Amino acid sequence: MSVRTDLATIESVDDRHVQRNNTMEREKKRLLNYLRSRKRGADDDDDEFARRIKTIQKLSQFSHGQSNPTYKLVVEMTDGTVNSYVLRKKPGGKILSSAHAVEREFQVQFALKKKRPHFPVPRMVLLCEDSSILGTPFYIMDFVQGTIYLQPKLPDVKREERKTRIYENMAKTLGALHSFDVREMGLTSFGNISKGSYSRRTLKRWFGQYEKSIKNRLVETPEKDVVMKLVAWLDANCPKYGEEVSDRIIHGDYRLDNLIYDQHSDDVLAVLDWELSTIGCPHADVAYNCLPYYLPPGLEFYPSFGDSNQVPPGVPTEKQYCNIWSQHARLPNICGSSKWKFYVALSMFRGMAILAGVRARAVAGNASSRNARQAGSLVEVFAKRAYIVVVQGGASEVPRKIIKGGYEPSEKCMILLEKLKAFMSEHVYDAEEVFEKHATTNARWSVHPLMEELKKKAKAKGLWNLWLPLDSAALMKITNAHSNDEALYKGPGLTNLEYAHLAREMGKVPWASEIFNCSAPDTGNMEVLLRYGTKDQQEKWLLPLLMGDIRSCFAMTEPAVASSDATNIESSIVKSANGKQYIVNGKKWWTSGACDPRCAIAIFMGKTKTTGPQHEQQSMVLIPMLNNPKVKVMRPLLVFGYDDAPHGHAEVIFDNVVVDVKESLLGCEGAGFAISQGRLGPGRLHHCMRLVGMAERSLDVTYARAKSRVAFGKPLSENSNVLNVLGNCRVEVNGARLLTLYAAHVLDQLGIKDSRARSAVAACKISAPNVACSVIDRCIQLFGGEGVSQDSPLARLYAGARTLRIADGPDEVHLETVAKIDLRRSKL
Ligand SMILES: Cc1cc2nc3c(=O)[nH]c(=O)nc-3n(C[C@H](O)[C@H](O)[C@H](O)COP(=O)(O)OP(=O)(O)OC[C@H]3O[C@@H](n4cnc5c(N)ncnc54)[C@H](O)[C@@H]3O)c2cc1C
Repeated sequence: MSVRTDLATIESVDDRHVQRNNTMEREKKRLLNYLRSRKRGADDDDDEFARRIKTIQKLSQFSHGQSNPTYKLVVEMTDGTVNSYVLRKKPGGKILSSAHAVEREFQVQFALKKKRPHFPVPRMVLLCEDSSILGTPFYIMDFVQGTIYLQPKLPDVKREERKTRIYENMAKTLGALHSFDVREMGLTSFGNISKGSYSRRTLKRWFGQYEKSIKNRLVETPEKDVVMKLVAWLDANCPKYGEEVSDRIIHGDYRLDNLIYDQHSDDVLAVLDWELSTIGCPHADVAYNCLPYYLPPGLEFYPSFGDSNQVPPGVPTEKQYCNIWSQHARLPNICGSSKWKFYVALSMFRGMAILAGVRARAVAGNASSRNARQAGSLVEVFAKRAYIVVVQGGASEVPRKIIKGGYEPSEKCMILLEKLKAFMSEHVYDAEEVFEKHATTNARWSVHPLMEELKKKAKAKGLWNLWLPLDSAALMKITNAHSNDEALYKGPGLTNLEYAHLAREMGKVPWASEIFNCSAPDTGNMEVLLRYGTKDQQEKWLLPLLMGDIRSCFAMTEPAVASSDATNIESSIVKSANGKQYIVNGKKWWTSGACDPRCAIAIFMGKTKTTGPQHEQQSMVLIPMLNNPKVKVMRPLLVFGYDDAPHGHAEVIFDNVVVDVKESLLGCEGAGFAISQGRLGPGRLHHCMRLVGMAERSLDVTYARAKSRVAFGKPLSENSNVLNVLGNCRVEVNGARLLTLYAAHVLDQLGIKDSRARSAVAACKISAPNVACSVIDRCIQLFGGEGVSQDSPLARLYAGARTLRIADGPDEVHLETVAKIDLRRSKL
């Protein structure tokens, strides 16, 4: 990529560009000797040139160009004529591998001139790969006389029709390039035609280059956080192999100031600077070409229109421009689509990475221009612009500052969070209506195929088992799984604090957690199997749960007793006479997930003893659920009228169920109460994290509603009462969010056995559902009738939040915990 320093609006490619004092006598001599010696070779084009050369009159460097140093070469021929050429060479010093390949520039232009003589590239004269002549390889090409327009707004072109023609010709030329068949051009080896997705390759390559360029500790990297977010978004949205056209010659740096125009006809005479050309995706190439429509105004090195609404008269809009390109490339115009957004962001990312390379070279002292250091400052602009304007679709130029040292997401978490957000926007919110509809049909107790499809997609994106902390994963005894699946079933290994950010995002849609295998009661049940399951139990039940192949339920609560006190449980687990089996009996209710056709296993709590210490009478056993005639799912209980199909909260009768002791017992006899307390282990905060997301989603939909709903002559958002409500909601949600993050952090640091962690977790369990309920309730009020209907997500969110003041343990129990811990401390 060249980064121009000239600010003149129109400059002729003549001696004005040349630093007159830079005579380079030594290089001239060496070059002349080389050319003379070269003429003793074959008799092709380049030797014809060498044969006719008499002397070199001038070799002087063009003042612009950051990438490959470029020189004007004026030569007197043996017949007395004086001709001008251009010499381009690799820069000296340490450069990033695979960059600045002048040999490739020569190859592609040579092929184009030979196979498509009308395509505007300069004639290639010769290539010298011998570094001993000028220090690095170089090539010589014809000098093309014409005009270069440096400013996309073309301020010095007065007539609108000329501006139109200049842009049309730029689009047509690029379109023509993209229409060429690589095979016919003899350029199949010029790039990786069949080596996977071009975009994925590009992302990987330039991320690698970026990382290398910031290795130097002297380089300041203010853009790094935003780059990581951008990379995560690009990664999540990258087209797969086969999803994009990727077998065309692409220029890689196609922009107005890399073209030489005929000042009279406005035809393109030459396309310059082929350093980044390769075989790749033409849509990515044209998106890069459209960057002036996206970049902010006032960039000295990379001029733009500043604002797409202010494209000057005569200059086509982005869409019109892409249409012309599309006709000549004979490829679809995808401008404006979500794919287009990806290619624009990818182009900016690539631009950013290239500029980061320039910055690194400046710091190392071997950039080819004195302005390289300034060019480096653009790195941040590109990264921020790509992320904020293109990815987030926002207009602000400055991204939100990332507050370090608080409970903000780590880099690893940030990448996953961005991926997750992208996944939610692309697949989950759109599917809400589909699932809502399905939930009203007679088929609702079956799993909608879209759920399994989304699960597959989430797996493919690495958004799977995000809840599983490293310390729990370490308890895994599974050995018979396919090793390829290990990354999937072990998850990314996040801390509670990291997971809190992701769970909040998933909480925004009631059933979203299931897509990422992060939903209750499976997570709690998997935790139990990890902590108390034998190797056999883990292989039989935990592995398929981790892979999302089956689901599970947890059967503790009984209609007959106050189950918030687990010692009250009355179901029985009695050993058979030979001691090898258990006979299980009991009536349970609120057994969430028991109605799901995929529910294959239940963790059942009952008493193995009715005497002895109160907390040691209970045990937990595994009971297979599929086609088990002794397990009767009686009915789904309704939550404010919602049956939550196909998951369901069931009343279940376990009627003389016989299970093998060894296969079914978790931990040991009498450990049931302890397991129930520790069941949620580190996962005890999951509901709180999701509740914050539920409250935030409710606020989001309410903001939009308040702005558009007009009552008594003005939008709701202008009513001071409404502002009061929304302001209070925000304060409360922020408080609950911080409390949750704090509890997650303390849990990570101290573990749940520490009373400070227990107190923080209990405080959250009180705060999060209460805040969510109260906020959603106020949002429902602002929505009016629609708020309690199926047409807004609020009613369902409210039902879910309200149950969590009971289902995750009643408020009163958690309040007791907080108070007791404080009282105990106050005694000390
Ligand atoms: C939607 C939903 C899903 C559920 N999923 C499951 C599941 O999958 N598996 C499962 O086993 N259970 C599940 N439950 C049940 C849930 O765990 C219990 O409802 C909860 O533990 C309370 O038990 P209980 O309903 O018997 O209420 P009770 O124990 O009868 O308590 C009723 C009320 O008494 C008061 N109270 C209780 N203890 C105290 C105290 N110490 N101090 C002051 N007041 C107190 C509180 O106000 C409490 O709400 C679910 C419940 C719901 C609503």
